[in-house]
Amino acid sequence: MYDVIVVGARCAGAATALLLARQGVRVLLTDRAAFPSDTISTHLLHPTGVARLRAWGLLDPLLATGCPSIDTISFRAAEDLVLRGAPYPCDGVAVSLAPRRTVLDALLVEAAVAAGAELREGASFQEVIWEDGRAVGAAFGGRGGGRSGGFTERAALIIGADGRHSAVARQVGAKPIRDAGTFGCQFYGYWQGLPNVGTQIFVGGGQAVLAYPTHDEHHLVLVGWPHARFAEVKQDLDRHFLAAVAASAPAIAEQLTDATRTGSITGSGDLGNYVRESSGPGWVLVGDAAAAKDPVTAQGIGDAFAQAQSVGDRLASALAGGPGAVDAAMAAHGVDWERGGRAAFETTVAFAMGGNSARLLPVLRAIERRPELISMFYGVYAGQFTVEEFFAAVG
Ligand SMILES: Cc1cc2nc3c(=O)[nH]c(=O)nc-3n(C[C@H](O)[C@H](O)[C@H](O)COP(=O)(O)OP(=O)(O)OC[C@H]3O[C@@H](n4cnc5c(N)ncnc54)[C@H](O)[C@@H]3O)c2cc1C
Repeated sequence: MYDVIVVGARCAGAATALLLARQGVRVLLTDRAAFPSDTISTHLLHPTGVARLRAWGLLDPLLATGCPSIDTISFRAAEDLVLRGAPYPCDGVAVSLAPRRTVLDALLVEAAVAAGAELREGASFQEVIWEDGRAVGAAFGGRGGGRSGGFTERAALIIGADGRHSAVARQVGAKPIRDAGTFGCQFYGYWQGLPNVGTQIFVGGGQAVLAYPTHDEHHLVLVGWPHARFAEVKQDLDRHFLAAVAASAPAIAEQLTDATRTGSITGSGDLGNYVRESSGPGWVLVGDAAAAKDPVTAQGIGDAFAQAQSVGDRLASALAGGPGAVDAAMAAHGVDWERGGRAAFETTVAFAMGGNSARLLPVLRAIERRPELISMFYGVYAGQFTVEEFFAAVG
C-alpha cells in the first residue's frame, strides 16, 4: 500500500517523488522508460531551476558529472546589436546549466530512490482504478519491477507526471483550461569542439539559432522555426538546419565546420501551449501533464521543479487528514500554480508567436549599454519578469 503512485519519472515525477519520500511519504515511482535514458527536449535550466536543485542538495552532484556552468548569455538581435549579460541571480545562484536529460533525470530518480521511493521501470500506465468516483489506484502493463503481465496498486493519490500526452490526464478527464495553440518547431544536434562562451542566441530572418555548452565537452546547437515550416524542414533536416545556422549565426556555422557532430539532428513540432485542470478526487497532474509552453523561453524543466515543490510542500501533512484534506491541498496547489504561471504563459505565447519582435528591437537598442535592463530582459526568459514589466522598466 502506497500513499502516492507517481506515473512518469523525469523532471516532474522524479522531483515530486523525491520531495515526498524525504518527508516519509510512501511513494511508488513508475515509468515505462528505464533510466538513464534521453527524451526529445533541449535542456537549458535558468538560475531559478538551478537554485531549486541546490536547495534539494542536487547541485553539487550535478556539477560533479561535468556539467559546465553558463554565466553569460549573448543575444544577437541584429547584425549591429548584441546584448551580453545574464539573468538576475536567484537565491544567490547566478549561473544557468544545460544538463543532458540522460544525466539530470537519472540523478533525480536516483535521489528519489535514495530517499525511500520504490522505483518500477518498464511499467506502462494503463488505467485509473476508481471507487465511488475517486481515483484509488492504477493498473500498469509491461514488466515493471520484474512483474511480467502488469500489476495494479492502490494509493491515496495518483500523480500524473507523464508528459504532454498524459494518459493519466485522459483517464481522469482533466478539462482544458487554456489552449493557446502551436506556433513553433525546434530541431537540435550535438557538436564537440566549440569554444565555451556561454549561451549564444541569434534571431532574425524568421528563425532563431541557439548554442550552449553541455556535458562531455559538447555543445547543443538548436534552430527554431515557425510551425508553418515544420513539414518542409523535416523533409531535408540536415540541409535546412545547416542553412539556417549559416544564415542567422555565421559565427556558429564557421565553428561547426571544424567541430565533430555526435548523433543525428532531432526535434519536435509538438510544442502546443496549454493548461489543464490539474486535480480532482484522488489525482493531481504535474509538469507537462498539467501545463506546457513552447520551449522558446526554456521554462518547462523549471516549471516542473516548481510544481514538484508546491505539491511536496502541501501533500505530506494533508495525507494525515484523509481524502478530503488531500483533495483540498491539491486543489489549492492547482489554483496557486495556475494563477502564478499565467503571466509567464502569456509572455511565452507572445514570444512563440513572434508577436513582440517589432516592438522589441528598438527597446533592445535602448538597453544595449544598461546591464541591469539586459539582466531584466533575460529575466523575462527565466520567468522572473513579464514582458510588460520589462517594457515598463525601460520606459
Ligand atoms: C524540443 C523541445 C525543447 C525543449 N527545451 C527545453 C529547454 O531548453 N528547457 C526547459 O526547461 N524545457 C524545455 N522543454 C520542455 C521540457 O522538455 C518539458 O517541460 C519537461 O520535459 C517536462 O517534464 P515532465 O517530467 O513533465 O515530462 P516528460 O519529460 O515528458 O516525462 C514524462 C515521462 O512519463 C513517462 N510516461 C509517459 N506515458 C507513460 C505511461 N503511460 N506509463 C508510464 N510512464 C509514462 C515517459 O516515459 C517520460 O519518462 C523542451 C521541450 C521540447 C519538446
